[in-house]
Amino acid sequence: MSADDVAAALGEVVAQLPGGGEVRDGQLAMAQAVARAFAEGRHLVVRAGTGTGKSLGYLVPAVLAGKRVVVATATKALQDQLASKDLPLVFAGTRRRPSFAVLKGRSNYLCVQRVREAQAAGAQGALGEEDTGRAKLGEEARRVAEWAERTTTGDRAELEIEPDPRLWASFSVTADECPGAFRCPSGGECFAEAARNRAAAADVVVVNLHLLGADLASDGAVLPEHDALIVDEAHELEDVLTASLGCSIGAGRVRALAATARAALGGSPRRRRSGAGADGPESAVDQVMEAADRLERALGERAGERLRGGASGELGEVVALLAGRIERLEAELHRAAGGAKAGGAEGAGGERGQRLTRALLVAGRLREQLAMLAELGEDDVAWVEGGPRPTLEVAPVDVAPVLKEKVFDERPVVLTSATVPPGLAARLGADQARTEELDVGSPFAYQEQALLYCAAHLPDRRRPDAEAAIHDELAALVDAAGGRTLALFTSRAAMERAAEAMRKRLGWPILAQGDASKSALLEEFAAEAGACLFATMGFWQGVDVPGATLALVVIDRIPFPRPDDPLMAARRERAGPSAFRTIDLPRAASLLAQGAGRLVRSAGDRGVVAVLDSRLATASYRWDLVRALPPMRRTKERAEAEAFLRTIHRDASQAEQAGGRPKARKAPAVSSRAAR
Ligand code: SF4
Repeated sequence: MSADDVAAALGEVVAQLPGGGEVRDGQLAMAQAVARAFAEGRHLVVRAGTGTGKSLGYLVPAVLAGKRVVVATATKALQDQLASKDLPLVFAGTRRRPSFAVLKGRSNYLCVQRVREAQAAGAQGALGEEDTGRAKLGEEARRVAEWAERTTTGDRAELEIEPDPRLWASFSVTADECPGAFRCPSGGECFAEAARNRAAAADVVVVNLHLLGADLASDGAVLPEHDALIVDEAHELEDVLTASLGCSIGAGRVRALAATARAALGGSPRRRRSGAGADGPESAVDQVMEAADRLERALGERAGERLRGGASGELGEVVALLAGRIERLEAELHRAAGGAKAGGAEGAGGERGQRLTRALLVAGRLREQLAMLAELGEDDVAWVEGGPRPTLEVAPVDVAPVLKEKVFDERPVVLTSATVPPGLAARLGADQARTEELDVGSPFAYQEQALLYCAAHLPDRRRPDAEAAIHDELAALVDAAGGRTLALFTSRAAMERAAEAMRKRLGWPILAQGDASKSALLEEFAAEAGACLFATMGFWQGVDVPGATLALVVIDRIPFPRPDDPLMAARRERAGPSAFRTIDLPRAASLLAQGAGRLVRSAGDRGVVAVLDSRLATASYRWDLVRALPPMRRTKERAEAEAFLRTIHRDASQAEQAGGRPKARKAPAVSSRAAR
């Protein structure tokens, strides 16, 4: 496939876009580079800025390749978007017979076996004992059951309602719970298996990063054989794989096991005879439940701590106790499964046998993961993640060896993102000699559309007057922008203090993370002219608000990883003297670029990115950070930033008036959150 062929095919595809699109230079360069990488069996890292049209830039050569290509996206929503919009367009434009499939994790599909069990148990059966009588759940269960009758894919994304997670859990199984199609009486009609079969027959298979991680963690048991891999939002790959290749154990997971086992054992004839005696099956469940409480307390006492050499002290004792109790529970479940098998009508292939099998699978998986703690090597790190529900985490210090062996040495890989941190390919395990790097820029005129303002005069954060100075700066900028601000913070406490201060000082509506769900906040932000949104890490990525709603992105400080983060600390130790350059700086650069990237989402957007951290103007490493950002004009003068913001605000207000949209309006400043 020549470069001209790729250009012609891309042209045909783009011409079908609504209104007849045009191929962008960066998009074409990307498509040709992807085709070259596939043909030569090499890897490619492409930085493709917002607006490049990168999904068509990689899908066109993927379809032309004549190989099976797996495309991994960051989210399930992006998977669905590729399948419903981009891939039909690409196959039509390249005149190929459509051959693509979406594959998601098992828990995204309705489990036919569990639906049958629910039907056999009656109307409330699916909800479990604790939920019986809850009207809302009952209504949701009815709607899911109705949908189960007519769906042909079982894909949860098709459901018109967003069911309560507990309800959905009762109609689905996780990968750990499923015994596999051969051991399941409903395996022949299984939706998850059907999706896998469709994927195995398709030329392009769209998955998400978590499923790619699950495939690597299971030695290739999840994805079909494939010849090439494309990873979109590749800056997230390291974190997702770290989670997939490790494990997370908290009291909630242990209690869920106990609940599953209790439900499975609940119908046991032995239990009905013997009741809840000390040696009866119920006591094994209760002992696991009691160990969950002890685990929660022990984890709470070690929150944030790195566990060198595994769990020790009280936590070590609780982990050992829990492992023993799970083993005892497994023995109980095995006995019950044997009884069920001998019981004929409720045989191991029937509902009760399947419930027991699922409980056994979950128990075995948890016990295996607890055992990992006793076998920690120098390539693993374990720690206790704090918060309201503390968890015990185990993760690989470095994901590169696994990726090198199972991915980069096996097939050509394309990594793409709007923000590619420096050294990404090497960090992930790609052979440098086999890897091409390409920056195709962005079609936006950043020099005209956006201004990067660094508040170089602000005092060092450690000084007591620093926060007041930051609030003064923030108030002046928000006022000049007429609200229309997304303020991104690295700490929840700093975000809350700033939101409170701005509510007192300014009349613009201030929305803050935690006031409502993320989607509700974004909806309100987009709908209300002049609104400001204050948020932390969850909003640095994936927020897409084009238009005059957003004219100012404020970043309170350079988002370096926390010095006390146990995983980062382990990675720094391994990197030695170069840790700051190889661990901290690339992560901060990538996240800073993601945050700044919220500003310009379309060719008509204009605005200011204000970084209220003087290190961006003074630190020796500042150019590593600035180079990662979109190529905006730069200034250290607040007056210049304010003047630009006022111009944007004036133009936006006039357009809003002309378009009949209510003008951004300032209300009197308020003195408390409740008064908003
Ligand atoms: S194989 Fe059986 S248990 Fe597993 S998802 Fe399919 S229907 Fe459910």
